Amino acid sequence: MLTQVSDPIIMTVKQTGDVRIHTFVASFAYSNIANATHIIETKNQLVLVDGQFLAPYARAFRDYADSLGKPIERLYVSHRHPDHWFGLGTAFTDITVYALSETMTFIHEHGEDSRSDHWKLGDLTPERIVVPKQVASPGEETIDGTRYVFDRVTDTEIDYDLTIRLPEIGVYFAQDLIYSGTHLYLTKHMDHWIQVLQEMLVSDYELFMPGHGLPADKNEVARNIEYLSAARQAIGNGLTNDTFKNFMLQRYPERKCPGIFDIYMPRLFGGASDY
Ligand SMILES: [Zn+2]
Repeated sequence: MLTQVSDPIIMTVKQTGDVRIHTFVASFAYSNIANATHIIETKNQLVLVDGQFLAPYARAFRDYADSLGKPIERLYVSHRHPDHWFGLGTAFTDITVYALSETMTFIHEHGEDSRSDHWKLGDLTPERIVVPKQVASPGEETIDGTRYVFDRVTDTEIDYDLTIRLPEIGVYFAQDLIYSGTHLYLTKHMDHWIQVLQEMLVSDYELFMPGHGLPADKNEVARNIEYLSAARQAIGNGLTNDTFKNFMLQRYPERKCPGIFDIYMPRLFGGASDY
């Protein structure tokens, strides 16, 4: 059965001086996983974070960016999971794309395999793969008058994750370090992931932009820590596969997008490949 598509959520999240932050969240329904992509709008231009997954959402995200009437200066891909970059080949082939060098190498080497692995999605997948051409390095850069801080976070939800912070306005683009209101994609790196989230809790940042779900506050970051701790304990107690999934579904009935269990469990509990 093909994944069904329904309305995304589009909102302006914050405005401070010349900077506006927008978010675009794909559906929470059916087997969608509420992919969240963002726009940093400054005086003269736009910077985008991630490129959506399924073709209709990628096109709608691009349409929204274009409706703001400013050029897209660049787009950052946060990490190598295809739900963050498949949409580049659908709607962002003309845009300069930045990513960590590890993410670039992965998409270069495995992008096509990933696309053929998703054949069941039919025309919801992109017609081609776009490999990011520009390296995003840890450090600071001022873009259109706004200071950005980039970091390379290892071994959490993914091996290499790019985070982007705007210290002057207190916004932290955490992408898949935070699943906001949805079930998390779990990996074996839960200890380090929890540490990184704990650092967020004692930081000066107030608004956390997730890779899935709606914009988050520190309470949601804390709830992610609690979820990871519970999952780690359940696995330590010997729960695997369906017994683990049922335990987590019962413990967190309020969280959406349970389809994610079937994506990560073959990797966490079996020997399935990383992509
Ligand atoms: Zn993701």
